[in-house]
Amino acid sequence: MLMNQLMLRTAAHCGRWTAVNQTIRTNSDMAEFREIFSKARHIAVITGAGDLATPECFSRHPSRVWEFYHYRRELSLNAQPSPAHRAIAECEARLSRQGRSLVVITQNIDELHQRAGSRHVLEVHGNLFQTRCLSCKDVEINHKSPICPSLEGKGSPDPDAPDALIPVKDLPRCDEKGCDGLLRPHVIWFGETLDSQILTKVEKELETCDLCLVVGTSSVVYPAAMFGPQVASRGVPVAEFNTKMTVNTPRFKFHFPGRCAVTLPAALARHESEII
Ligand SMILES: [Zn+2]
Repeated sequence: MLMNQLMLRTAAHCGRWTAVNQTIRTNSDMAEFREIFSKARHIAVITGAGDLATPECFSRHPSRVWEFYHYRRELSLNAQPSPAHRAIAECEARLSRQGRSLVVITQNIDELHQRAGSRHVLEVHGNLFQTRCLSCKDVEINHKSPICPSLEGKGSPDPDAPDALIPVKDLPRCDEKGCDGLLRPHVIWFGETLDSQILTKVEKELETCDLCLVVGTSSVVYPAAMFGPQVASRGVPVAEFNTKMTVNTPRFKFHFPGRCAVTLPAALARHESEII
């Protein structure tokens, strides 16, 4: 009995030591990161935060949800990619000329990575500029501004604001012949499962990358929150770029605090060993 208790206590103690050691190993040594970066062949960059709308919310308040997404579409259409978006896109273009690769695995739905020039983007939470018909399931690309006349000038950043009370018949509708079903944003909402084809591609990238960057994610929305730790568990260096520490920080080799618009361009700039 005593021996069992001792073993349990030892096990608990070892667990703490492991955690402490992992914390100590996390560092902010940009020179060491740059050395690893210069040799990496397949870089995976994980970006973005999760979306917190729900399908139940949409079925109860479709006009409020559409008002909110219309607002986000207009914001995104008027936004410019940040220096962080541009640094990632420029790095991808440069590395591809050297026979190396960079893939963006993003929870963002705003297309700013693509607008910055990123080519290889896996959108795990869908896309603000795609719609899906609730009746015929047709998925369409849609950049109209506004997406329908009734939403013109509407929009609120506050999802708890009073309902816009737009009749459902005046919300975005399917234009497939004879359908006229209600459209919804083709994004993944809280509680919905991720697209299995996208997930398969993501898994392949996580298994083959030799350097991983986790950029500006709060590491709380699953399963995306586990992508970085999954790579780290293979012994591959993972670097977190975030203003704050996250629950996953102790699992990663690097943590670079500060704004990604500042830290990322420095991290992904041309290395002296790159000749093209
Ligand atoms: Zn339809």
